Amino acid sequence: MTPTMLSDLTTAAVGGPAGNYIEARTEAEIIEAVRSADAAGEPVLIIGGGSNLLISDDGFPGTVVKIASEGFTVSAEDSCGGVSVVVQAGHNWDALVEHAVLHAWSGIEALAGIPGATGATPVQNVGAYGSEVSQTIAAVRTWDRERNAVKTFTNSELKFGYRDSILKQTTVNGSPRYIVLTVEFQLPLGRMSAPVRYAELARVLGVEQGQRAYSNDVRREVLRLRASKGMVLDPADRDTYSTGSFFTNPMVPEEVA
Ligand SMILES: Cc1cc2nc3c(=O)[nH]c(=O)nc-3n(C[C@H](O)[C@H](O)[C@H](O)COP(=O)(O)OP(=O)(O)OC[C@H]3O[C@@H](n4cnc5c(N)ncnc54)[C@H](O)[C@@H]3O)c2cc1C
Repeated sequence: MTPTMLSDLTTAAVGGPAGNYIEARTEAEIIEAVRSADAAGEPVLIIGGGSNLLISDDGFPGTVVKIASEGFTVSAEDSCGGVSVVVQAGHNWDALVEHAVLHAWSGIEALAGIPGATGATPVQNVGAYGSEVSQTIAAVRTWDRERNAVKTFTNSELKFGYRDSILKQTTVNGSPRYIVLTVEFQLPLGRMSAPVRYAELARVLGVEQGQRAYSNDVRREVLRLRASKGMVLDPADRDTYSTGSFFTNPMVPEEVA
């Protein structure tokens, strides 16, 4: 059988063959795939949208689990508390942002255009244009590979920092201890955005930093700004093939620098 090439699963379009490839479409399938690989002592690579991964041309010799669970459910909605939405890990992030803006769920509009799956967003506390997911995540349900059990983290337990979280801190050699199954967001209801914190975005929207704008306008201007910087993936334009920006500076030992 022809092996699955990881170059087909990453936005940088590089990466050799997967030893064993499983596309997991439900929470139960994700847990089963990871549990069996762990029981067999095989290395595990988790892939969402493949937009923050650079994989060697040698490929990955163990089990590659593609997180392909989709959809979301609204668990509560009222004008006081806002909406509480539980999103499957494989659900496309940008599609969720678009849905949120169209349905007047406020708070994630400035995160439009970020590629990848929702389950990866808490891992590095995805952020852009003055917003980050830590501002709206209520809880993250995970599979804990070390304890062979489901573990749910509240926002404060996730130890969010700049492009950082406990999910990233406990990842060893690219293999996470906690596999994100669902992410719960708590979003205020309304057509207005969260306060616009990013100067360039405030300028194009014609508001002061810290003021709100229509979420629809925020999303549109963020997508426009991102496209002007080659930060919106376009399969027809190879210059947009990337893994995004360098968000944190690499630490280089003195003898190498
Ligand atoms: C053009 C472009 C623009 C970008 N812009 C931004 C930006 O503005 N801000 C920003 O923060 N990032 C940005 N990124 C980086 C990237 O899109 C985000 O980090 C995104 O959240 C990665 O999602 P993914 O599903 O593609 O993750 P992948 O690349 O598939 O995986 C990334 C890491 O998370 C792990 N992972 C994935 N899913 C799970 C899961 N369910 N459970 C546990 N671990 C998991 C993987 O093992 C891997 O270590 C950009 C990337 C590109 C290509």
